[in-house]
Amino acid sequence: MDEIDGLGQLTDYRRLCSDLTLQTKKEGFFKDYLASIVDQVSEEEFQEFSKQQTDYDRIRYCWTLPALHKTMKSFRPSYRGKSADDSAKRREQGNEAFKEKDYRKALVTLLEKTTLALALANRSAVLVHLKEYRLAVRDIQLSLQSNYPEKQRYKLYDRMGYCHQQLGEPAKARVAYTVALDCLAESDLELHALENWRQTVEKSRSKLASSSNPSNKPITTVNELPELLGGTHPTIPNASRNLSLKVDDNCGRYYVAADDIKPGQTLVCEKPYAACLLPGKFTSHCHHCFVRLIAPLACVTCRGVFYCSVECRDEAGSTYHQYE
Ligand SMILES: [Zn+2]
Ligand SMILES: [Zn+2]
Repeated sequence: MDEIDGLGQLTDYRRLCSDLTLQTKKEGFFKDYLASIVDQVSEEEFQEFSKQQTDYDRIRYCWTLPALHKTMKSFRPSYRGKSADDSAKRREQGNEAFKEKDYRKALVTLLEKTTLALALANRSAVLVHLKEYRLAVRDIQLSLQSNYPEKQRYKLYDRMGYCHQQLGEPAKARVAYTVALDCLAESDLELHALENWRQTVEKSRSKLASSSNPSNKPITTVNELPELLGGTHPTIPNASRNLSLKVDDNCGRYYVAADDIKPGQTLVCEKPYAACLLPGKFTSHCHHCFVRLIAPLACVTCRGVFYCSVECRDEAGSTYHQYE
């Protein structure tokens, strides 16, 4: 699967920096790193280090130690830039999966095609098969923004019309079908095929309902925090009303149940101050909001992470991800 999830080069990183190795005392990057430094740095050098007053001075001092330079050499960058070879491999795997009607696999592997516009257009077809119409419309829009060839745009607008129709949005479907008819003029179809397409699109447009019944299904599942039992406590932040805070000399501060609590009910829930996705989930979950991916969107500049939506991609890209 490494070929597909594209994490082959990160095996070492995953082994050294997984949640397990960060927490265990037995192995892991930080403990190993410290051990190797301790072995190579003299007592005098440690003493000198401890005299440094600021982080800047500490780092500057570290760079004067040959031992650190030696250890640093063993680091390898984990940044994975775009790769034409990797894209070609994925395209092959994606097309095979599509032929075998393995649409789920095709969704992941068709992501990186040499021409992004064509990849997105192909994937929108896969999404229509899976009845993921909202995601299909998103991929069509992205494909059009990525300069999908004008001669074939009629196909995408026709597909977009169909998706809106299925989503109970006839007004949007009508616009898409009308644009599809306009785009037919730009196509290089033979006269007969052109006439067939025109009739098909016009038929679809004429069959549209007059009123909307939009599907409210969101494009992604938002990670909602679970509701606290009985609502939020008036004085204890992020805790349930069914808790009460006690203090005594023996135990110090502690919670007791102020009311009946059944197994599985939520008593404390707090949004994390900081969180990051485990490397093993990079290709199956959104790098920004952590939801499980249906049709992953690649980062604009690297091929190491994926997003559930344009919103997550742009928010991560414009804030922290550019420094990762
Ligand atoms: Zn997301
Ligand atoms: Zn990136």
